[in-house]
Amino acid sequence: MNFTLTTLGTASARPMVDQHQSAHVFNVHGRLFLVDCGENVQVQLKRYGISKARIDNILISHLHGDHLFGIFGLLSTMALDGRIAPLYIYAPRDFGPVLRFFMAHFGEGVKYEIRHELLTMKEPQRIIEFRNCEVTAFPLQHRIDCFGFRICYLKSGQSAAYCSDTAVFPEEAEWLSGTDLIYHEATFADEHVDLAHKMFHSTAREAAQVAAAAGAKKLVIGHFSSRYTDLGVLLSQAREVFPESYLAEEGKLFEV
Ligand SMILES: [Zn+2]
Ligand SMILES: [Zn+2]
Repeated sequence: MNFTLTTLGTASARPMVDQHQSAHVFNVHGRLFLVDCGENVQVQLKRYGISKARIDNILISHLHGDHLFGIFGLLSTMALDGRIAPLYIYAPRDFGPVLRFFMAHFGEGVKYEIRHELLTMKEPQRIIEFRNCEVTAFPLQHRIDCFGFRICYLKSGQSAAYCSDTAVFPEEAEWLSGTDLIYHEATFADEHVDLAHKMFHSTAREAAQVAAAAGAKKLVIGHFSSRYTDLGVLLSQAREVFPESYLAEEGKLFEV
């Protein structure tokens, strides 16, 4: 068994025919963490052979629709599948009313417990420690409350982090220091750096600067704006700074 990242969605706000919205699975030696639930997440899980039944922990970075619209379908299908195991959803405070709405209107067949664990931290804080896995959450810099995650396998010291959506900020590289694999959003290319800052997003080059400053071994960039038909531009701008940069591709497995 290994420690891997599978990207299920590489798009940003607008889904495309071949690019879905944000959803990612970290497999930590057999333990799965689903990070963000963009539209179509359950179809993407099926497409790439990842069993919903093995997911007990969902991490939601923030409440923009491109990271959340898939959760209702996923929760409903888990109920149809006869799930009884509790499901832990780590999400910002505003997820509370969303979950209550779901349960009020669609929750009749849900026989399993859904526990909303609040993300409110102002600096890195451990949220999960279980069977040699440790997950830390930390605040990002976006237009609404948004959180990143760092997952560490304590036995080997291997680690991976997820940063979407965010503008880069001074503490970021320090908080990610020594992380082996960093997934970082790279919504924009150099030519749209002003727009990136205005919208609290990052360019591919900025993501690479964070990876370099953190001393990472590998960077995976994703959350691409639909305006770019050639993602190679984003990749080459990242690689100018950090050669071990890779484009997220749906279904592709990255080893930590
Ligand atoms: Zn987004
Ligand atoms: Zn967002």
